[in-house]
Amino acid sequence: MNGSFPNSGQYKRWFQTCQQAPFGAFSGRAAFFLDGLLRFLIPWGRQPKPAFWPVKPLCRMATQLCPCGYFGSDSRRCKCTPGQIERYLSKISGPLVDRIDIHIDVPAISFSKLRSKSSQLDSAAMREDVVRARDVQRKRFGNDKPMTNARMSHKQVRQFCELDQACEMLLKQAMTEFGLSARAHDKICKVARTIADLSNSENIRPEHIGEAISYRRLDRKL
Ligand SMILES: [Zn+2]
Repeated sequence: MNGSFPNSGQYKRWFQTCQQAPFGAFSGRAAFFLDGLLRFLIPWGRQPKPAFWPVKPLCRMATQLCPCGYFGSDSRRCKCTPGQIERYLSKISGPLVDRIDIHIDVPAISFSKLRSKSSQLDSAAMREDVVRARDVQRKRFGNDKPMTNARMSHKQVRQFCELDQACEMLLKQAMTEFGLSARAHDKICKVARTIADLSNSENIRPEHIGEAISYRRLDRKL
């Protein structure tokens, strides 16, 4: 690696920040949200010497799919040409896309939903689901470490993500159609395993694989 490691002062400040964060107890975990991904990529690319930090981050990133920002919108018409869109999206490198676990479309919120007083999202119920799925994973990996499906090695993917014939067919079709990499293959299996855990299902079923494939949005042609 050509990058620089943080010095002791930087590391201390980073560690203190982690301890103060709500999930700091998960030793060296951190969460980031990069809104407007393409704005970040350009300055990063000009950095002569990237820094490497001893952290396994949960990183969320967001970007528009075209220069005008309305590609796929129901409310406004996108004025970009296919060439403009292709050039715009080519700023996101394939290796970066390949390393992202889940990429999805987030549609604009309609006026009626914005004004609605009833919320479909119940944070407490969602938290219960996550805690239950974490419990399943703790039992699966047989230790008290915060090991998750996302951290599975290729060998563990083969061990814990058994697929029946229907699942195999779906995955094979997606790999061929979208030209997916071995890394994307493992990511689909891991996400499908987590969807199955959230559904209280011991086995990965075709609907779990199908949903995991649908989360490879940037691997598909627009
Ligand atoms: Zn556009």
